[in-house]
Amino acid sequence: MAAMTLHRRYEQVAACCLTTALAWTQRDAAVGLLQSCAATLAISKVLHALAQGRGWATIGISQLTTSTQHQHQPAVVASRSAAGWTLDGRIPWVTGANESRWIVVGAKTTDRQELLVLLPTSLKGVMPGTPPPMAALNGSKTCAVRLKGVEVPQSLVLLGPCSHVLAARDAVRRFSLTTCVLPLGVAAGAISAARLVLSGRSAQCRQSVETLRTEYKHLARSVYRRGSGGKLPLSEAATMRAKANLLAFRSSLMCLELSKGRGFVMGNAAQRRVREAMFCCVWSSNAHVIEETVRQLALAAPVTPEDPVERRITS
Ligand SMILES: Cc1cc2nc3c(=O)[nH]c(=O)nc-3n(C[C@H](O)[C@H](O)[C@H](O)COP(=O)(O)OP(=O)(O)OC[C@H]3O[C@@H](n4cnc5c(N)ncnc54)[C@H](O)[C@@H]3O)c2cc1C
Repeated sequence: MAAMTLHRRYEQVAACCLTTALAWTQRDAAVGLLQSCAATLAISKVLHALAQGRGWATIGISQLTTSTQHQHQPAVVASRSAAGWTLDGRIPWVTGANESRWIVVGAKTTDRQELLVLLPTSLKGVMPGTPPPMAALNGSKTCAVRLKGVEVPQSLVLLGPCSHVLAARDAVRRFSLTTCVLPLGVAAGAISAARLVLSGRSAQCRQSVETLRTEYKHLARSVYRRGSGGKLPLSEAATMRAKANLLAFRSSLMCLELSKGRGFVMGNAAQRRVREAMFCCVWSSNAHVIEETVRQLALAAPVTPEDPVERRITS
């Protein structure tokens, strides 16, 4: 499937159910890494099983990218063993860990190099935890996975040890803005829902929803155009992601405002969309994305001394 089509489908699924979209992207990320790194028979067999739907794969790499980076000790340590590597530590986040047959895991070696392995969850010492209650996406059953003396044979090493194992993924990536597509989906779902509850509302409300819809269309167009054009500079990717995050927030809050008290009741989709938008802020956000999202949040509708209400208060 063309990368653009696949990402439009992620977005469409996210517009209805972000939990399903997350689980799907994590599986695809695992498969993508297997395809780009794998050469061993053991890994080809796993890819074959996945293609036939015999088991689910997921990914636990945030300890190399966006989680636990400020800690002195690596979250997952790999030490050489007779047959390959021994893994110890804790993978902080794995979507669907308890339901998965395999996890693609990133680790740091004792000399601080990186290693990427395929971890069958049936191996001795792999201990997925109980998923903690979260603000949203509880159906993703995301949890930490403890690793205690897990023996991984060399045939399951995907890449490394080397200084940056995920560079291999970047090299074969066909779409560079995957993490923008899920917030776009949240925004699209919220805007559609907002339009459905508009009847009988003021012209101003209708116009505001249309303004946001136009903004969504512009952003979606540039995400798909730029995302398919190869790797972007970090700062540009971060700006796009921050815009998508904020659009998800503003759209879902608009939908909640229009849905009124009924929308605040658990079970109503309006409040769920606001909680889903919160996930967009914490998922796979590197330092550039955080900095840019916080910067744009600080800019949103600033109250200045020129503001008429502020002028009345201070005079
Ligand atoms: C629902 C869900 C599903 C996910 N699924 C996956 C998945 O399938 N695979 C995967 O690889 N990842 C997954 N992630 C991980 C995600 O992509 C991010 O890596 C994660 O949200 C980062 O948050 P953290 O709390 O671990 O970050 P950390 O950076 O570890 O922060 C932990 C705490 O430390 C604080 N802190 C951070 N830096 C500093 C500092 N310098 N000094 C002092 N304090 C600091 C933070 O404020 C925070 O409170 C998932 C996350 C969520 C929420």
